Amino acid sequence: MTRQRLVGWGRTTPGMSEVQSPASEDLVAREMTLGSRTIARGLGRSYGDAAQLSGGVVLSNRALGGIGAIAPDGVVTLGAGVSIDELLAVAIPQGWFVPVTPGTRQVTIGGAVAADVHGKNHHRDGSIGDHVLEMRLVTPAGRFSVSPSVEPDLFWATIGGMGLTGVVTTVTLRLIKIETDRILVDTHRHSNLDDVMSAMSDGDDEYRYSVAWVDCMTKGASMGRAILTRGDHATRRDLASASLVAPAPARLRVPFNAPSGLLNPLSIRAFNEVWFRSAPQSREGEEQSLGTFFHPLDGVNDWNRLYGRRGFVQYQFAVADAQAECVVRAIDRLSSSGVASFLAVLKRFGPANHGMLSFPLAGWTLALDLPVGPSALPTVLDDLDEMVIDAGGRVYLAKDSRLNPEAVRVMYPRLPHFLDVKNRIDPRHQLASDLARRLQLVGK
Ligand SMILES: Cc1cc2nc3c(=O)[nH]c(=O)nc-3n(C[C@H](O)[C@H](O)[C@H](O)COP(=O)(O)OP(=O)(O)OC[C@H]3O[C@@H](n4cnc5c(N)ncnc54)[C@H](O)[C@@H]3O)c2cc1C
Repeated sequence: MTRQRLVGWGRTTPGMSEVQSPASEDLVAREMTLGSRTIARGLGRSYGDAAQLSGGVVLSNRALGGIGAIAPDGVVTLGAGVSIDELLAVAIPQGWFVPVTPGTRQVTIGGAVAADVHGKNHHRDGSIGDHVLEMRLVTPAGRFSVSPSVEPDLFWATIGGMGLTGVVTTVTLRLIKIETDRILVDTHRHSNLDDVMSAMSDGDDEYRYSVAWVDCMTKGASMGRAILTRGDHATRRDLASASLVAPAPARLRVPFNAPSGLLNPLSIRAFNEVWFRSAPQSREGEEQSLGTFFHPLDGVNDWNRLYGRRGFVQYQFAVADAQAECVVRAIDRLSSSGVASFLAVLKRFGPANHGMLSFPLAGWTLALDLPVGPSALPTVLDDLDEMVIDAGGRVYLAKDSRLNPEAVRVMYPRLPHFLDVKNRIDPRHQLASDLARRLQLVGK
């Protein structure tokens, strides 16, 4: 056991915890019987305080390894501490890919199911929980195998449940078949937000993957100008020569914290401008590697240090199709506030699953990266909360570091059901995190 200062990827809310790395389900169960306040942690890629517990015990899942053989139908069982990067290193050469990947490969499968992560294909394929067949879970009430048909309530409380129902030790999921390690990508530049949103509403169904990078620093007629990239896996027939090679590890690293204030409205506006101008007006069928298309940020380790010591907030919300206007109003609010935001990420979501605290709901999602510092930031974020609540939407807990309990209760109407399940397997409220305490998700 070591005492460590833990922090999320945004580095805004540190906390001191005792950290353990149990290497088997038996050792996780033994920890659980000791009765300490506990939360699991993966690779710490959630942005806020979800994977830490000040004064409590954090169970790192990284020693829960092992990747089973991949069956002919793509079904594989792996330890919850295996990262998507490690899984892809084994799966891609055999012609398999993960059904859902977030924007970084550096997440564990335990962290991925606990946040019910989504990728650029939610409108087609849903989130990771939709592809999980079974999980092993250690709770204060004992060990469970859970699936959509066995202990379904505990299964769907755990999918998106931010570690608050126990420690997932293994996950069985179904991979998808790929013939090559390339994506064929269509790229289009759009001069404003209305334009890109119409293109996505009208055309996303024709693509498996779709994402728009939106410039939130422009105002007026070019407010929300964007680069839309969409694509699908290349087949052998599409390419002159095909290979199945896993993405290479990052070669670059940010060695120390950049001075706070390096990323300011001026520098971010300049970056966004260069980035927008360098994208092609329109390009179809470009071959991109899996790493370039899915995980462009993984090329540089520790890139969050660029935000300096104060760190940054990622604010991601989802609203229904009928509330698309909320996306427009949010970008308008931001672009007129003087608060700098790097390229925002806009995606379409398909239908929600049964995950009680799962984030996606059919419609739109927008993710904003905001350096901490500007005095207007807290007010802008409070305004965005209000807009999202008025639109019946929600903020993503895996990115959150600042919501309040009242807001979460409105945003997540299935929270009472979640707490019922949690109270059943954790009547003494042993499972907690700094996020859970802040949002009063620990149970009564
Ligand atoms: C660059 C970047 C891009 C991202 N892009 C996306 C994206 O496109 N889509 C998306 O959905 N998310 C995205 N994320 C968020 C990320 O996918 C999630 O926060 C994910 O949960 C991180 O996994 P982790 O292993 O780092 O978990 P941690 O951050 O360590 O933990 C996250 C949560 O999982 C719980 N947990 C971890 N392991 C277990 C376990 N074994 N059992 C039970 N609970 C467990 C923790 O208690 C915590 O609540 C992105 C993050 C970054 C940094």
